[in-house]
Parts: sequence; structure tokens; C-alpha cells
Amino acid sequence: MASLTLNKRKPLISRLKLACRSSGLMKLLRRLKGKKIPWPLYLAISCFFMTGLLRYHHYLCCHLYAVRMDGVEIGLVRDPEEVELFLEDLTAKCSSLYGMELFPKQKITLSREYRPEAVENFPRTREALMQQLRFLTEAFMVTVDGVPVAPVSTMAEVDMVAEGVCSAFVSQKSGTDLLEVELLEEIGSEKCVASPEEIFDPGEIVALLTRKGNDEELSRLMLASRLGRSGTDDETLPAVHVRHVEKITVQERIPYTTKYTYSNKMYTGESRVVSPGKYGLKEVTYRVTYENGVEKSREVLSNRVITEPEPKVVERGTLKRFAWPVARGGRITQYYHGGHRGLDIAAPLNTPILAAESGVVVMAGWGSSQGNYIVIYHGGYYTLYLHNNVNLVSAGQKVSRGQVIARLGSTGNSTGPHLHFEIRRSSIGPNWGGWYVHPAVNPLQFY
Ligand SMILES: [Zn+2]
Repeated sequence: MASLTLNKRKPLISRLKLACRSSGLMKLLRRLKGKKIPWPLYLAISCFFMTGLLRYHHYLCCHLYAVRMDGVEIGLVRDPEEVELFLEDLTAKCSSLYGMELFPKQKITLSREYRPEAVENFPRTREALMQQLRFLTEAFMVTVDGVPVAPVSTMAEVDMVAEGVCSAFVSQKSGTDLLEVELLEEIGSEKCVASPEEIFDPGEIVALLTRKGNDEELSRLMLASRLGRSGTDDETLPAVHVRHVEKITVQERIPYTTKYTYSNKMYTGESRVVSPGKYGLKEVTYRVTYENGVEKSREVLSNRVITEPEPKVVERGTLKRFAWPVARGGRITQYYHGGHRGLDIAAPLNTPILAAESGVVVMAGWGSSQGNYIVIYHGGYYTLYLHNNVNLVSAGQKVSRGQVIARLGSTGNSTGPHLHFEIRRSSIGPNWGGWYVHPAVNPLQFY
């Protein structure tokens, strides 16, 4: 058995010299010189030589080359060069297909062996090689702070990954100056071998490293499946942090302030805008620090006012909607509640009762439970004054705010001298319409 690589023969010249030196053969030739050989002997010698020649031919024919892949025989061939050429061709074709220098993953060996029973079969060997042979390529495993991520073809592509990660988070807008970009982790590489399917495009690795949230999980699983890993949690993608600093100049509005003036020509709660106010404008230059595209801090470098803001001026009313209806105040003995739609204000008999606001008297009369009563319309509101000792105005009469309209008493359903005072919101204009038409409101909201 001779391995292909050991198949060296001695040169022809040295073998001839060796043969000449063997004196036995020369002696035999000298003795046979001039002597006649009888024909039966000649025939016998010829037969002997012919048989030997045929046997030698058969012996040669029974030697074949066994082709093995990682020690496992995959075929027998007569011409080892045929296999070598096929391998070279297959490697070249695959290299060109993937665009990278490939070499076979498995070790292919050929050894010359005496195999009298077997027949050579190159097509079968070729088929087995095509089916089973895998290729590898020299690659660079991209690492983030020493943690392997995925392989790329060249060192230049490792640099492209680092640049790609930086630029993935830096989006330059107009009016900004990029001052610094810093990758907080070190993107490096280690030499490795990988199958061509495992080789990543630099852009793919950039996408994997810069995804966030749910996409991060997707990236991890995608990477694991491509590299034939299990995809367990301990194979999480290393995080990358890109810090970049920009100088940004922007125009910003300056908010205006609101100033108030007061007027006793308007009721409390009412107001009017005297001047609407105007935003100012300023040009601000910031130094903004981002991490992975998210703003982390901002510092003002310069601030220039282009136009000053103008304040908004609002006039507020100070006039109370209604004046207190009992001279010298009196004392509240019952408040406004579900069963009592006004205020009871106790005071001495005949204390002056005053019109809460200017208006027109729409009712002035007497009722069994109300006693002497007065209703004044003020436009939007009615005021009601009950249990008066005596009414001093009559229906249709105009009254002014604070005018004495009655004397306090205890007429109608009353237990002592007091004013039952109500304020009603007018729902249908100046028509009184009845005691239950206009909704009562709590009078104290106006005092
Ligand atoms: Zn009452």
C-alpha cells in the first residue's frame, strides 16, 4: 500500500547501474552466447514469461485509489488526478459563487490499495463529494468588548460595522454641527473560520446591534439560527452605546406674561382682554448630548433675543353682582339647601330692605305663605324679597341698586322678623311666569 504523497520511484539510470552490477545475470547471458536453444525449451520459457506478464498486468489492474472523507471511504478511482481536478474545480466554483476564498471543511485523502474484488466508480465518488463536502472560509468574528457577535469576511468590514453602529444613531439635521461621536464599547475582531452561509454583511450586524425593544429579541433569535446556536438567554446580543454631541441653533418663541388691571364697571368674575399679548423671538444655541439617539442633556451656549414679547393685558371686574339686601347686614338663620331655595336673614322689625341690583319690579303683592313680597328683574336674574312688613315699591317701577324697597317683617308663614331672600336665574326672559319657572341659585355665591 503506497500513499499518493509517498509515490516516488528511484530514477531509471540508477536502476540500470544496479542491474549491471548483478553479475549472475551477466554470467548467464555469456554462457548462453553462441549456444542453440531447443524449440520445446524456447516455447516453455516463452510460456513462462507470458504467464508472468499477464499475472503482473492483473496485479496492476487490481490496484485502485480509495477516496476517503474524514477517514470514511466514499469511493474508488483509478486516476487520482481526476479526483484532484474535480476537487479544485468544485472549490473554485463555490468560491466564486460566494465571492470568497473557500477551502474544504473535511479532509480528503487518496490511498493506493490492492482491491481485487472492487471496481472503480468515479461518478459515484464525485456524487458523494458533491453531496457531503462542506466548505469553510477564513473570517473575522466581530466582537463587542470581547463578546463575539457574528463573522464578516474582511478586517475592512469590521471597521464598517463600527462606523455603521455610530452613524445609525447620528442623524444630522440642518442647523446642527456634529461635535463628537464616541462608541462606548470597543468593536474588535478575532480571526476565525466559518461556513460561507454564516458570514454576515456588515450592514446586517449593524442592524442587529442597534435594534431596540421587541426587535432586540428577534435579532437574538435570528443570529442564533444563522450561526446554529441554541438561542438561549445567555447568548444575548451585547449592548452598544453611541454618545454624540451636537451644536444646535434654533429660533424659539419667548412666552409673554399676563398683566391684570381692575375695573369697578364690571362684575367680579367678568373680564376682557385689553391687549392680546405677543410672543417674542430668540435664537438659542445648545450643546446637546445624545446616547443612542436619545437626548440626555442640553446646555445653552448662547441666547440672543430677536424681538421682546409683549404682555397680554386683561381687565378684571371688581363690582359685586348683587348688593346685600338687608341694611346693616342682619344674621343668616337658614342657608340655601335642597328644601330651602334662599337665605333667611334675621334683623329687627322694619329694618330697610335694599334692592340687590338695579332693575324693574315685576311683582309686588301679598301671598298667604310669602306675606308681602317683591320680585325684581335684573336681566338674566330675578331677586325675591319675602315676609316684608310693608312693600315700598309697586310692579312696573324701576329701582336702582341699594334703593330701599321694603321694611323687614314677619308676614305670611314666618316665625319671627326676617327676610327670605332668593336669586333666580331667568330662563325665559323678563316674563315672571310663576314661582316654579326660574331655577334658584345659592345667593352666597355672589357675596
Ligand atoms: Zn326662608
